[in-house]
Amino acid sequence: MVDIELVGHEYHYEIENIIKPYTGYIKDASIRSILKGNLCRAEIYEGDNLVSFKEELGNEDQKYTKQLLIRTLYQVLCEFTGVKMPWGFLTGIRPTKIVHEMFENNIPKERIKKQLLEFYDIREDKVELMIKVAEKERGILEKNKADEISIYIGIPFCPTRCLYCSFTSYAIDHREQQVEAYLEALEKEIAFGGKYSSSKTIRSIYIGGGTPTSLNEEQLERLLMLVNQHFNVKDAEEFTVEAGRPDTITKRKLELLKQYHVGRISINPQTMNEETLLRIGRKHTTEDIVKVFSWAREIGHSNINMDLIIGLPGESSRDVKNTMDKIKALEPDSITVHTMAIKRASRLRESLEEYTLTQADEIEEMISITSQGAYEMGMEPYYLYRQKNMLGNFENVGYCKPGKESVYNIEIMEEKETILALGAGAITKVVDPKTNKIERIPNVKNVEEYINRIDEMLLRKQKGLKDLDNDF
Ligand code: SF4
Repeated sequence: MVDIELVGHEYHYEIENIIKPYTGYIKDASIRSILKGNLCRAEIYEGDNLVSFKEELGNEDQKYTKQLLIRTLYQVLCEFTGVKMPWGFLTGIRPTKIVHEMFENNIPKERIKKQLLEFYDIREDKVELMIKVAEKERGILEKNKADEISIYIGIPFCPTRCLYCSFTSYAIDHREQQVEAYLEALEKEIAFGGKYSSSKTIRSIYIGGGTPTSLNEEQLERLLMLVNQHFNVKDAEEFTVEAGRPDTITKRKLELLKQYHVGRISINPQTMNEETLLRIGRKHTTEDIVKVFSWAREIGHSNINMDLIIGLPGESSRDVKNTMDKIKALEPDSITVHTMAIKRASRLRESLEEYTLTQADEIEEMISITSQGAYEMGMEPYYLYRQKNMLGNFENVGYCKPGKESVYNIEIMEEKETILALGAGAITKVVDPKTNKIERIPNVKNVEEYINRIDEMLLRKQKGLKDLDNDF
């Protein structure tokens, strides 16, 4: 059992996030994190014996002092367990933000590297990855214009709920009426979004969820027509629709996506192993994936992403190798490789004792199989993020062929541009590019509530945008 005591501060969240990946390595210990004036100290006790401690002196800069507090704790945990984390004491979901900040302050690359290695204690290969990704992202972010925004539209329905899912998503079966009511409410929000964006340039549009292609053909066409009617789709640099689950895709839907100017789609196998697909509740086969992928190519979709997950229950490195070999044969334009995360609202979390989770060293091997596979397909990493409770405390990486970077993925990660978000659970983020300050305007998560309270959502958005955007 691990006892944690905070003295002189209340950074519970940050301290717990540092300790969490170490809980498997510590049997019985008491941990104290102490802030006294600017002095940061961490201690580990076994019984009454102090077995490890670290101290560092902060200064008036609260952010820096807080970092030192977390760093001292990380250092005692490393010393006590003999285990270092690949991302050092970084716990945030957007590691590249630190690099962008340093780029903006004109810090030379070599000094950035040194800081990441020595201060944050990040492993060298992860430092290289961070810098490579940040440089790629810069090329996209530098093109952001002052009047530019991106649009997100959420469709919170899926055919079934995957084992690991924690998104706002409802199994679509027997929800005919609710889906219709949802589209009606969404139509109001899209019309509002159209008005708001009429004086702006739209850089990217992303329809995600859930699985937007769970809508039937008529519903999908209605949605695409609405988006085309209210937004300047043709001039947007990118228009993506997640066609995530192959069991929702028909030839007609792929044709509709093409007809309504969708330039990028995502067909997400997660794995190319039959048994795993069953185990995670996907209700489709690997053959279905190959079939819909070839339909998409036949119909002319020339920018197709595929999402994969490593560390799925029951999978070994050999299974991941098999997945990569099959993906390579399909030649997608980009892949996004997620490391399995045990999310709070997932079925997996509720039934964790039924599964054996993959250990960190095997996840590491899986990461190298997928990154090697991506390089062999001519792809490079272009975006990166982390989540809480990831196996081995690793990362998610998007790889793409040259010129196939997803603008939306970069914008949502780096938060340098306003994203107007529509639908249940969608959170609009208004970014002030001068100060990098971000204000959030959330919609309610629950679909029923979203439908019933749509007018209130619209008022909330209108008021929020009026307060935050001088041009509106
Ligand atoms: S397809 Fe995605 S959103 Fe839908 S249940 Fe599976 S993980 Fe969740």
